[in-house]
Amino acid sequence: MNEIVRGADRVLVQARGPGVPEGIHGVACMTCEATSPLFDDDPLPTAVWAIQHSQDHPEHTFFLARTERHWRVLPRTDPPAPPPARGSGGFGGPAFVGLMCLLTALAGLLPGLG
Ligand SMILES: [Zn+2]
Repeated sequence: MNEIVRGADRVLVQARGPGVPEGIHGVACMTCEATSPLFDDDPLPTAVWAIQHSQDHPEHTFFLARTERHWRVLPRTDPPAPPPARGSGGFGGPAFVGLMCLLTALAGLLPGLG
């Protein structure tokens, strides 16, 4: 499962399966209104289309290539992680601050060892 974003109780995945292409590719000329056909799964035909369009219209050299994908939102199957307790854990919490104090104290002691 290609997970994109995990919410509290739902997860956003890239949709897969029969009839769902990996990507739908298209390209549009930025100089005129021309657009390529849409191609499933393979961006190469859009690149070929852009080159051919530029051959037909030498001034048309700037294109917008698009890839569209299907997303699906599913309920999470794993239990959601418990929210972090207030004031404990996490980067920058008391444990981290304590460690930094310890390191600072050690650094202060080191010159005295010599
Ligand atoms: Zn054009």
